[in-house]
Amino acid sequence: MRATLIYGAGDVRIEDVPDPVLQDPTDAIVRVVRSCICGSDLWPYGSRAATAEGGRIGHEFLGVVEDVGADVAGIRRGDLVVAPFVWADNTCDFCREGLQTSCRHGGLWARDGIDGGQGEAVRVPQAQGTLVKLPVGPDSALLPALLSLSDVFPTGHHCAVTAGVNPRTTVTVIGDGAVGLSAVLAAKRLGAEQIILMGRHKDRTDLGREFGATDVVAERGEEGVARVRELTGGDGTHTVLECVGLKPAIETAFGVVRDGGTVSRVGAPQYPDVPADFGVFSRNITLTGGVAPARAYIEQLLPDVLEGRVQPGKVFDRTVTLDEVPDGYRAMADRSALKVLIQP
Ligand SMILES: [Zn+2]
Repeated sequence: MRATLIYGAGDVRIEDVPDPVLQDPTDAIVRVVRSCICGSDLWPYGSRAATAEGGRIGHEFLGVVEDVGADVAGIRRGDLVVAPFVWADNTCDFCREGLQTSCRHGGLWARDGIDGGQGEAVRVPQAQGTLVKLPVGPDSALLPALLSLSDVFPTGHHCAVTAGVNPRTTVTVIGDGAVGLSAVLAAKRLGAEQIILMGRHKDRTDLGREFGATDVVAERGEEGVARVRELTGGDGTHTVLECVGLKPAIETAFGVVRDGGTVSRVGAPQYPDVPADFGVFSRNITLTGGVAPARAYIEQLLPDVLEGRVQPGKVFDRTVTLDEVPDGYRAMADRSALKVLIQP
């Protein structure tokens, strides 16, 4: 089969790799119907050291089950399934606590001999715990929205949930990438009435407004902080959803959060430390968030997606074939595409 490999910064290739086969009785083989490129794939795409051997990449996919091991129940050949961006047994103590990202028997895609999602097929470890069956066919118009359950929508949802967003909280979302827009959608779904989106790409913030943002702040840094405070009677918002991962974003987050409020971060942090000085202490700010246990949220979010009450698939603004994946990376890296869907 063919799959995407990354050889270094800016160097993504499509190559032949071994067809996946069942190795453990808990495995399944899934033929990928849709995959996509994640904002977090842009970090290695921007900075990975060049290597002679490429590494597999991609951690978001849905597809059709082609084979299952003897110990896999509830998933059958022919089922359409979505995979969260971390595989897990869904039975250990961490999984039962809804923290499948810390599963004692789980792991990441595209690492340690595990297939990546950006290819034609994937061997899925812990298939019974990892995969979620979808009640539609592989030609459903809902595939982009259902694929968003793999990572981007649950990540935005996790940000809103850990921040404590509810109908009584005001919200600032920092970042107009696919995760930030998904966080807007999640905050709206949880009942927030004021959602301030900080972002400066108009086509993206327009989608943010469609998703539920009530205000858009294009200014950054101190100006951005001042603008959010102006919109909130000088106080800032109860919750701040930081969906970027860069130092200026987390600094802005602490600047716009209301005393007693919560900052949640889901942007993969590209900084070693966070503001935690006496000023933050004296304002009683909570910092939360982290990698999203998407598996914990898929069943909760699925009914709203199936019934069209939310349309998280709108974050995909370009579709490529597997051969065009290198173009897809370029488009996301130069910000001409928001999020790229892959149709192998
Ligand atoms: Zn587990």
